[in-house]
Amino acid sequence: MTDIIQLLPDSVANQIAAGEVVQRPASVVKELVENAIDAGATEITISIGDAGRTSIQIMDNGVGMSDTDARMSFERHATSKIRSAADIFKIRSMGFRGEALASIAAVAHVEMKTKREDDPVGTKIVVKGSVVETQEPVQFQRGTSIQVKNLFYNIPARRKFLKKNETELKYIITEIYHTALAHCDISFTVYKDGDLYAKFPKSNVKQRIVNVFGKRFEKSLLRVESETSICKVFGFIGTPENAKKQNFNQYFFVNNRFFKHRSFQRTVVKAYGSLISPQEYPPFFIFIEVDPEKIDVNIHPTKTEIKFVEEYNISSIIESAVKYSLGKSNIVPSLDFSDDTNYDDMFVKPSSHEVKVPSIKVNPGYNPFANSSFEKEDPNFRNWEQLFEDFERSPEPDIPQQTYESAINSQSETSHIQQTSCLQVAKKYIVTQGKTGLLIIDIKRAHSRIVLEKLLSSAQQESAPCQKILMPVKIELDSSDFDTISDILPELQSFGFDIEIFGKNCFVVNGCPANVDISETEQVLAEFVRMYTENQINAKEKIRENIAVSLAKSTSLFRNVTMQQDEMQAFIAQLFQCQSHSLSADGKVAVILLEYDEILQKFK
Ligand code: ADP
Ligand code: MG
Repeated sequence: MTDIIQLLPDSVANQIAAGEVVQRPASVVKELVENAIDAGATEITISIGDAGRTSIQIMDNGVGMSDTDARMSFERHATSKIRSAADIFKIRSMGFRGEALASIAAVAHVEMKTKREDDPVGTKIVVKGSVVETQEPVQFQRGTSIQVKNLFYNIPARRKFLKKNETELKYIITEIYHTALAHCDISFTVYKDGDLYAKFPKSNVKQRIVNVFGKRFEKSLLRVESETSICKVFGFIGTPENAKKQNFNQYFFVNNRFFKHRSFQRTVVKAYGSLISPQEYPPFFIFIEVDPEKIDVNIHPTKTEIKFVEEYNISSIIESAVKYSLGKSNIVPSLDFSDDTNYDDMFVKPSSHEVKVPSIKVNPGYNPFANSSFEKEDPNFRNWEQLFEDFERSPEPDIPQQTYESAINSQSETSHIQQTSCLQVAKKYIVTQGKTGLLIIDIKRAHSRIVLEKLLSSAQQESAPCQKILMPVKIELDSSDFDTISDILPELQSFGFDIEIFGKNCFVVNGCPANVDISETEQVLAEFVRMYTENQINAKEKIRENIAVSLAKSTSLFRNVTMQQDEMQAFIAQLFQCQSHSLSADGKVAVILLEYDEILQKFK
């Protein structure tokens, strides 16, 4: 019998390895940027063409390679970073597997130019699908440039598997953000399809965060700092007011490497205690420095999961540092923490402080439904939005999704309600007597429905009602959010936003839809961007509907109100004018009918 085992040709073995390392264009960006960092670059330029499908180019001013090393770098398991397995435990560099370049070259066309400082000329290598096509001397400055073209040209299935450009670009940008945050001492320049997309000059951590995520972080970050023999923890956390319903902007770095850690994440959230509500996520940028021998970065191919030997202790240190920072800021809100901190002080427990309820500014003269057809139809209507004096951070109740549309007949219910009294319960609900049972209305959800239907109907008109803002609001966003808004600018205008591009990553809002409170414009837009980008992934076709839903949700998001009798009745009347009065803007149950029969049964 002949032997049947054969060595796979390199090109095939490399393609298999590539499956692990190169999942999408963003993985290429990550690997190449990490190589540039490991090469000691202080300036890295990233150029992305067609969301990375056609071209990804990374240029650095690092140490460069000799012509032999340049050739070697494309071999599998070729690395300058470790010599033995034991070295893995001391690793300080971003890479060490020696697989990235081999994997990338297996599934793309790669052109590398590189030169070391003292070499008279550099070298240029062209590799296609693991095969070196040419290598020749080239005039080049110190550093390395790697261009990756036609990614997955030889794996059509992979190519097909890629998401649409916006999504792939998001992945790339996310990768760049992680790296840029972890390496403030390096300047990054990003080009997208030939245009400058983002520039992060060398700076300190706080400036870098502001640079990446926009000016809104300028005044809302609290410094965290703690140094012990186990590890050093430093960075910034957001003030409780900046906590969001989604866990965006939560970043951990260990030895300048981004990582994910569920349990540390919970620790930080726990440290906020009652300062935030259970479903909110505070932003944070926490850097941990620990002896590389005490972590294992090797457990995950993309190295985003990390095992800590002293996980428990590090967790306690993080918790204390966050609590300390919050406690301090609560006592002296305007203090600018810089240096003289005595970390041996007792940590102040946030729960010992009262939760600050931020107040909302309301323009008392502003009638959100002025000019609306509804106002004319309903004499009971008062400017109930005036009543929003404060808002409370309260979790959304988890009501199973059902439709009560048929059970709740709007016509008869409205007339009935006009004559009966309403009760506001737990600030969030209105309970009233319907014809066939008790109606329980979730105020926020119902409000989002009312706003949604108003938005949709006004957007159909020639020009949706827009209220001009006396002092135009400047809104700065990070580059990818900016792009999101730019893409849908005409649609936003059709909803009544008077909004213009105002320089790099910046908009100026001169007017907003009649339903949006002027004082909340910035908050609403920010929330809107977040929701929109989430929805967009699923349903780009329904762009207008998407915008309307996101806007309706974000305008209603922050509010809890105390309502008077007549206001509740007017509110209900408005709700039942809506086509889908029992559902919130995003299709959740807004009204529950508890039938009298059912109540009767329960008392049996
Ligand atoms: P690893 O980073 O795990 O060592 P790679 O395949 O990413 O493996 O790179 C292989 C080797 O090529 C690296 O160890 C390094 O010596 C060299 N190299 C790659 N990119 C660069 C660069 N931008 N500048 C200098 N050397 C580089
Ligand atoms: Mg590498």
